This record gives sequence, C-alpha cells and structure tokens, in this order.
Amino acid sequence: MMNLATLVQSLRCSFLHIESRLLQAAGFETQLAPALSVNGSSILPQLNNEQEFEEQLEGPDQPSGFLDGILWMAAPKKRRTIEVNRTRRRSESKLLKLKTNIEPCPECGHLKQKHILCGFCYVKVCKETAKIRQQIKEMEGGPFGAPTVETVVLYEGEMPSAQDKDKRIIERPRKRPAWFNV
Ligand SMILES: [Zn+2]
Repeated sequence: MMNLATLVQSLRCSFLHIESRLLQAAGFETQLAPALSVNGSSILPQLNNEQEFEEQLEGPDQPSGFLDGILWMAAPKKRRTIEVNRTRRRSESKLLKLKTNIEPCPECGHLKQKHILCGFCYVKVCKETAKIRQQIKEMEGGPFGAPTVETVVLYEGEMPSAQDKDKRIIERPRKRPAWFNV
C-alpha cells in the first residue's frame, strides 16, 4: 500500500509539471523564469585562491557586467539608399576602359596591343628556342662541354657566312620560320 501511494504521488507531481510546461508553451502563463542567467564573474576564467582573496578584501565596488569585455565597433548611423550605392558602383571611374591601341599581328594575324610582342608568336618562339636548346644538349652533353664562342642557328638551305666560320653552328632540320629571325 505504501509503495502505491508514493507512486501515485510521483505521477501527480510529474503531471503537474507537464501541465505547467504546456501552459508556458501555449503562452497562457507569462511569468517565466529566465532560461539562462549569466553572471559576469562566472564567464571569466576561474581565479586562484590568492586573487579571490584579494578581490574579497577589495569588495564588490563596481560589479563587472559581461558586456564590458566586448569591443564596441563604430557603426554607420544611417543607411545609404540603393540608388546611392548603385551610382557609386557604376561610376565612370569603375567602368572598364576602352582600349584603342589594338592592331592585328603582322606575322600571325591575331589581335595584339600596339608596341607589345604578340603572345601567340612569343609562344612559337619559345617552343623553337626550347628545341634548339635540346639539340645543343644532345650535341654537347651539357653546359660543361659548350665552347666559349658565339652560336649561330642555321636552317635548311642556309650556309654559314664568312664571319660565322669560327662560331658554334647549330643546324636545324627545317625551313626557317618567318617569325624566327635571330
Ligand atoms: Zn603573332
């Protein structure tokens, strides 16, 4: 009998608890306790005993709120309208400049800037130069076997002139490209 009485009592308590929670959730009962009450000192890291003792001696003159540790930044007072923002974003100084110094490359016909080397021709020259360098490496086996004279690159059908006799001659097995005139 005693056990049954305690069981009924605990069931009644839990039902009352559930009823109060439902009332709170439905909004009928507005007197809610704060869900989280934060004290300033509890956020701060725990001090050791000596500092706590000193603080107790000083007394709670100025209770430190937990907002004191926040660095307050400057914020604009008024909102700029979307018209003002768009006018600023699309102003004359932010638009792309029109380029008038563009011409076709005389060698390959691609468009390029005036007084600037054509990018396509530059890549072709780079590839041809790399092939020449590879050929020199196969001939001499590395930079230590290179002769200390000037280098002349000859293409198919070209003969070394009189002043190129003593120079290092690299013969390329192809016709000289129009864009490679060194
Ligand atoms: Zn070009």
